[in-house]
Amino acid sequence: MLDSMFKDTMVNMKWTDIESYANKKALVLIPLGVIEEHGPHLCLGTDILTAHVYCLSIKEKLEQEGYNVIIAPPFYWGVCQSTGGFIGSFRIRKETAKALLFDILASLAEFGFTNIFGVNAHGDIEHSLAIIEAFKDATEKLKINACYAFDEWRLPHFGFSGNEPYLCPIELQSIVVSTAEVSDVHGGDIETAIIHKFYPHLVDVEKAKSLPPVALDDDKVEQWLFGGHIKELSSDGYLGTPSNYESVDALNYVSDYTYRISKAIIGRIV
Ligand SMILES: [Zn+2]
Repeated sequence: MLDSMFKDTMVNMKWTDIESYANKKALVLIPLGVIEEHGPHLCLGTDILTAHVYCLSIKEKLEQEGYNVIIAPPFYWGVCQSTGGFIGSFRIRKETAKALLFDILASLAEFGFTNIFGVNAHGDIEHSLAIIEAFKDATEKLKINACYAFDEWRLPHFGFSGNEPYLCPIELQSIVVSTAEVSDVHGGDIETAIIHKFYPHLVDVEKAKSLPPVALDDDKVEQWLFGGHIKELSSDGYLGTPSNYESVDALNYVSDYTYRISKAIIGRIV
């Protein structure tokens, strides 16, 4: 159980600690997410809490390989596109998110860090673009290696090859995580299982068990992706099967995903 997304991040350290990590040329991981509604059973911080969990696990894996690793303050003012207009989903403009993230990368560069990796747990298109553009600008203008770990299968949808210096492609998932017929798009069984594993007090389990599956039909995918229709798609603000969360092995899911992210990062260290 965790009690804070600041655990083992720069937020809980002194500047002298940061300096010694910079002197050691440590790799920096930045947890990336949003503050967004996740159904009536999950907290608004679900994505950023998950990104932080990923970073803790990646740090452990990279340290086992002999790297020095430090986690930057979690960046949670990303873009809520799909659930925009729902209570709890903060309306941060893409340009705001991009500018803020660039300033954070510039600060890290100023501290002396040269290898910075973004680890994200929120899938919106505009959010991904804000991150990609900030990392691209940082790579080009700050002369550092700022690299965003991005799911390989999403690259073609964004017009990328995976060879861009500001992206490190994450291999496809090969394990089966969920048995639910209605898969997790938002606030479903996988997200619920992860938060329940690391922050059990932040899940309303009785509520989660009582919720019926809500599917995203194929002809509604665009409405979901481009946003503005969440209330028509799901009046409770989730898509998936929250009630199935107990059958998801959250630790195995996190371990598999962070193994693949760690591999992607190792391939891009300069
Ligand atoms: Zn989420």
